[in-house]
Amino acid sequence: MKKKRFSLNAWILGGAAAGLFLGMFLRLSPGTPGTSLVLGACAVAGGVFIGLLKMILMPLVVLSISSGIANLADHARMTRVWILTLLFFATTTMFSVAVSMSAMNAFRPGAGMDVGIFKSEMASFHAEGLSVGQFFVKFLSGLFINPFQALAETQVLPAVVFAILFGAALVAAGEKSRQLRVLLSEAMAVVMTMVEWIMWLAPVGILALLAQLVATQDLRLFGSLGTFAAVVIGATLFHGLVTLPGVLWVLTRIGPFRFFQGVREALITAFATSSSSATMPVTMRCLNENLKVDKNIGGFVVPLGATVNMDGTAIYESAAALFVANLVGIELNFTQQLIVFFTAMLAAVGAPGIPSAGMVTMVMVLQAVGLPAEAVAILIPIDRPLDAIRTAVNVEGDCVGSCIVQRWAGGPRQNGKIEP
Ligand code: ASP
Repeated sequence: MKKKRFSLNAWILGGAAAGLFLGMFLRLSPGTPGTSLVLGACAVAGGVFIGLLKMILMPLVVLSISSGIANLADHARMTRVWILTLLFFATTTMFSVAVSMSAMNAFRPGAGMDVGIFKSEMASFHAEGLSVGQFFVKFLSGLFINPFQALAETQVLPAVVFAILFGAALVAAGEKSRQLRVLLSEAMAVVMTMVEWIMWLAPVGILALLAQLVATQDLRLFGSLGTFAAVVIGATLFHGLVTLPGVLWVLTRIGPFRFFQGVREALITAFATSSSSATMPVTMRCLNENLKVDKNIGGFVVPLGATVNMDGTAIYESAAALFVANLVGIELNFTQQLIVFFTAMLAAVGAPGIPSAGMVTMVMVLQAVGLPAEAVAILIPIDRPLDAIRTAVNVEGDCVGSCIVQRWAGGPRQNGKIEP
């Protein structure tokens, strides 16, 4: 499994490099029949890849959120543990997005570019010249619609709202919904297999999209991409080295040195696999053996966190939305930035703990404010290195959460059972 992932990484990098070369080559011979033919083929291949990502988005988001919430039912007796856990997840994710958006607003990578490739997609955006108030009312009323309409029209936010309510109802129904909960978990596993398949097409898709981009676009774009990556890495490291250890110290008095020494293996595994889910067994062992976190606490916080608590992913998604807005020359107003803020949090919740999952749910953040989903193509080449760093911080967040929950809701350990 591990070997497969590394070779996919290599293929993706190879595809990106080949795409860059092909694009430059096509740029040198503009207007020839051969060039138009190759560009036409690239448009088809790139379009299919983006189409596949859009195809899987709605099932992925709806299943991940509703089955994730439903799984809480198994732990409902541990009221204090899960309230604390969710409180920790929500506040730290909010904080991470705030840092990311402040950094993006300060440095504004990609501003003044006006990338032509998305012109047609942006036409509908310009047509909607609403005031902040009107926009907010429209946004709010658009949240509650027929879920089938939302799925059919790829309206992500109303589908997320329905998934949350559906998940909550599954929990409330208790025993009566047992089979449906199992069914949802199985459906989720199937969709994740499909995501894996789509990722195997990524090298070709990336090659095609990059070649098209380099051949037809302003090359200054790649400079902006470097600045964007630097801002994302800076914000992610700030969260991982300052915010999370700070919160941990204040709430548990566990110092950063002891903490990082204890979870070192988990962070390295997360970095190497780019998957919170694959890292889970290592994370739980580090917490239990090195930081004395009760197995029941780690066994609850870590699996839940691996799916819903992704600070690194939230940082990336919110920063990417602002970057794309800069690239296409759109000034997002306060309300729209607020929408980015909350959808980035939801997209991080909706992303499963597998490599590049954040890139798939990114479409949701972009679409929530009317930005072109096709823009993920620009971000894919730099996704792999950024994914490694954000996954390590995602896992670190789960570790910090486990230590805090252990300290405040662990109670005395009795034969491995928690006494609240
Ligand atoms: N790879 C990340 C994780 O497993 C998810 C993402 O793509 O952001 O935590």
